[in-house]
Parts: sequence; structure tokens; C-alpha cells
Amino acid sequence: MPVSMLLFLSLLCTPFSFSTVATDSVYDNLLHCLSSKTNSKDQFSKIIYSPFNSSYTPILQDYIRNRRFNTSTTRKPLLIVTPLKESDVQTTIICAKQIGVQLKIRSGGHDYEGISYVSNVPFIILDMFNLRSINIDIKDETAWVQSGATVGELYYSIWQKSKVHGFPAGICPTMGIGGHISGGGYGNLLRKYGLSVDNVIDAQIVDVKGRILDRKAMGEDLFWAIRGGGGASFGVVLAYKLKLVPVPPVVTVFRVIKTLEDNASDLIYKWQFVANKIDNNLFIRLLLQPTTIKNKDTMRATFIGLFLGDSNSLLSVTKAGFPELGLAKQECMEMSWIQSVLFWANFDNGTSENVLLDRKGGSPNFFKRKSDYLKTLIPKDGLEGL
Ligand SMILES: Cc1cc2nc3c(=O)[nH]c(=O)nc-3n(C[C@H](O)[C@H](O)[C@H](O)COP(=O)(O)OP(=O)(O)OC[C@H]3O[C@@H](n4cnc5c(N)ncnc54)[C@H](O)[C@@H]3O)c2cc1C
Repeated sequence: MPVSMLLFLSLLCTPFSFSTVATDSVYDNLLHCLSSKTNSKDQFSKIIYSPFNSSYTPILQDYIRNRRFNTSTTRKPLLIVTPLKESDVQTTIICAKQIGVQLKIRSGGHDYEGISYVSNVPFIILDMFNLRSINIDIKDETAWVQSGATVGELYYSIWQKSKVHGFPAGICPTMGIGGHISGGGYGNLLRKYGLSVDNVIDAQIVDVKGRILDRKAMGEDLFWAIRGGGGASFGVVLAYKLKLVPVPPVVTVFRVIKTLEDNASDLIYKWQFVANKIDNNLFIRLLLQPTTIKNKDTMRATFIGLFLGDSNSLLSVTKAGFPELGLAKQECMEMSWIQSVLFWANFDNGTSENVLLDRKGGSPNFFKRKSDYLKTLIPKDGLEGL
């Protein structure tokens, strides 16, 4: 065989052999380190998945929520560790540090850029999905929620205990508590109760030394940081203690659609003056989407609302504060708060609350997303440009 051919073959083989060796040695080193900390190899071999284990791919893919990061060229973790108890998190942090491999923390996998499960350097995933207990104390109006729980599981658990309590968090039920709350958490109770992090009263985190710290032990600076600064920069959040908020037994939702032909631009322009000033019980989200009507390309503006009260009270609020919307009684739907959660998550009216326990939702799409806060109004010609 010519030398050039040999070289070509060896180049082809090199990356595979490297990753096999790397995975093998990281697996052995990690297992050795973990078991040396507890004297139990068996216990840890059950929570570590290497690419040679048949559960590795399903576990990896279960919480990939963006198909852009589920391609054959996406770099895969050397191992996935799925802790069953808090001490598994502690030992994994200590051992990852000891063997010098990057640790990625994943709760619900909804990171827009796949930060919790992709990396440019060799890495392992600490997947929190087994740590998802939720303890609601209605008397105290609080909840301890482990970071592997989803927002939907939290809403469901609150609803099981009380029909007049809720929690201000995002609208997508499959987001993980760990990433969602450590990143801020905004949703349709924002105007009345603020962000999720405005309603966090305690937390448990494992720091880089493997210590479990609560609010008192971590201090106010770190406690501040893990409420909006992104948890993974500071440690592994095990759980948050949340302050529940009151919701009325009846809330009202609506969805009003206008196109450019219905003067949507004027309405959107006006909405910018109204959205942050109208009665705090009313949240109106605006969705702008291109659409085609009768073979003509146009734009559709959807105004989606949640009002913490009945439809008559809502109508008097919109008549006084946003009459241009022209909201009519027949467009208003009264329901319980938990049903409004389903409405906002685009489930059909009457869907069972149990759907909130479906941790995976539908199959993920390819998407690119970015959120921002508007601090100045978009002028009318800006809207037309959009
Ligand atoms: C379809 C969709 C809808 C969304 N809707 C909303 C919305 O309505 N409101 C809103 O505010 N946001 C929304 N988001 C954004 C979402 O809140 C963030 O992407 C959030 O970080 C996701 O958390 P996660 O645990 O699911 O994600 P992950 O991908 O698991 O984690 C996100 C980040 O947090 C870190 N992290 C995760 N768990 C922990 C932990 N236990 N300790 C320390 N760090 C951790 C990860 O390492 C990563 O950096 C949405 C995202 C998507 C994809």
C-alpha cells in the first residue's frame, strides 16, 4: 500500500480512536474517583452512561430541545452522569475537577444555544432530570422545587394543592427549573408579580468545592447571582424555594388577530404605550408573524391576553385603557388559572392538566431565537419596516 494511502487511512481513523480512548479513560477515571469517595463502584456505574451504553443516545436526545444541536457533527459528551441524590452531584463536581474535564449542567435542555449539552472541548453532562421533587406548603405559600423538575410539573403540583395559587414563570411547560429560574424567568404574571427570581426566597447550590450551601451559607452576593446570572457560572443549583402567589378562581384569556389591512401597525404602535401602564392584572403579549391571505403576503399581529379576573372586569379595563383593541365579550374566555397555562402553551381548550406532566412535549424544531427588552418605542415606520 502506498505511503500516502496509509497516511490517509490513519488520518481517517485517528479521531475515532482518540475519542474511544478518551471516553474509556474518562469513564474509568471518573468511576474510580466517584467510587473512591464512597466505596461503591456499583452505585455509580448505574448513573454513568458512556457512548457504548445503549441508553446513552436516548438520554442525550431526550433533553435536546433544538435540532440545530442534534446533528451528526454536533460534538457529543464523553459521558452523561444522571445523579439520583444530592451527594452524587457533590462527588461528580469534585471528580470532574480532579480529572480535569469540563462539566455541563442540564436541567430541561431549553437553552437557545444548547449551552447545557454542547461544547468546543471534551466534556461530560450532569443531567439533573432525576432530581425533580416538588414540595408545596400551602399554609406557608411556598414550594421547594428541585432543579430537574419542569415548569409544567411545578404548575401542576401547585394546582393539585390549591386552585387559588400560582407561580410567575414562563409559558413553555417543558423548561427546566434549573436553567429557567437561574436565568430570570419571565411569563404572563410578570406585570403583577415580577420575574420568577423576584419570588425566590431560598436555594440550595453545590459549589465548586462540592459543598451544599443554602442562602445563609452562600451569602447574599451568590444568592443574587443565581437569580438571573445563569446558575452554571456559579455551581450546580439543586433546588429553589419559591414564594407562591395568589391567583383568582376565574381568570380570562383572549386572542385577537389583526392584519396590516386591519390597521395592525396603528394598534401595535398604541400597544407600546399601553402594555406597561394598563391595570397590572392584565398582561398582553404581542406576536408578529408573516402570513398570506388570498395570495397576498401580509403581516399578522396577535394580541394574547391574560387577565386576573372575570371577563366583565377585563372589558372595563380594556375599554378605558386600550379601546382601539376593540376587545369583545365573545372573544373572552373565562377559565381556571391552570387552564390558562394550557391555553398559553397552545393546547386545545379542555385539554387535561395531566399534559403538564409530559416532560418532553412534541419533537423539537430547528430554530434560532433571541430575547431582548425594549426600552424605547419602535416608531411607526420601524414597525412598517418590520
Ligand atoms: C421553546 C422555549 C420557550 C421558552 N419560553 C420562555 C419563557 O416563556 N420565559 C422565559 O423566561 N424563558 C423562556 N425560554 C428560555 C428558557 O427559560 C431558558 O433557555 C432556560 O435557561 C432554560 O432552562 P432549562 O433548564 O430548560 O435549560 P438547560 O439547557 O438545561 O440550561 C440552561 C442553562 O442553565 C444552566 N443550568 C441548567 N440547570 C442548572 C442547574 N441545576 N444549576 C446550574 N446551572 C444550570 C445550563 O448549564 C445552561 O447554561 C424558552 C426557551 C425555549 C427553548
